[in-house]
Amino acid sequence: MLTKDDLTRYERQILYTDFGENGQKRLKQAHVVVAGLGGLGCSASLYLTCTGIGHVTLIDCDRVELSNLNRQILHYEEDIGEGKSISAARKLAKLNSSIEVTPVVKKITERNAREIIKEANLVIDGMDNFETRFILNRACVAEGIPFIHGGVHGLFGEVTTILPGRTPCLSCIFPEIPHRQVSLPVFGVAPALVAILQVTEAIKLLAGFGSLLTGKMLYFNGNTMDFTFRKLVKNQNCPVCGTKEV
Ligand SMILES: [Zn+2]
Repeated sequence: MLTKDDLTRYERQILYTDFGENGQKRLKQAHVVVAGLGGLGCSASLYLTCTGIGHVTLIDCDRVELSNLNRQILHYEEDIGEGKSISAARKLAKLNSSIEVTPVVKKITERNAREIIKEANLVIDGMDNFETRFILNRACVAEGIPFIHGGVHGLFGEVTTILPGRTPCLSCIFPEIPHRQVSLPVFGVAPALVAILQVTEAIKLLAGFGSLLTGKMLYFNGNTMDFTFRKLVKNQNCPVCGTKEV
């Protein structure tokens, strides 16, 4: 299953005892959907690709703008005006030609979300708005697919791993859609850090080792360098994952 080149390329991570060749094989068989190719999605897809996830699907309907370049590190000056998922896929194919990278230029809607994610083993939240996050959350709960939430604001970030049926879902955590600012302040380092935490979760979840950020939110404060946690509680009346009969 692993080729000679795979064994060489991933040599240093295969040396990690809990992971090994078996973990690498599991990553090679995995399909991860990255929803959004902005600050979070660029960094996340970069690390999913270099770690050897067998199939990475990139979804974004926006085009690259100059004001994206402080944080969306797969897009360069020459890509301004191009679709973000296409721009990202081109760089990722050069980094690792042994995996499959599928760019999708589509807006995620209530109507198409389940179809877009249904083949995935997990979905990485790279969105910049809660409306689409909630659509993805509903689709992931309906399809039983893990959803690794990440969010940033300024130098702050948050991450949690949602396992449908086992942990609180995004609607349990945020009963109402948080107010949306038109243009959030963001330093590039904040989504980079959050995305790498999301991929760390993805690697462990797919390869089956370690413990996950389930049932708790990790908060990162770049101003003070504090990392804190909040326990998350499942809402039995949750309209998305609640167990009570309506
Ligand atoms: Zn819920």
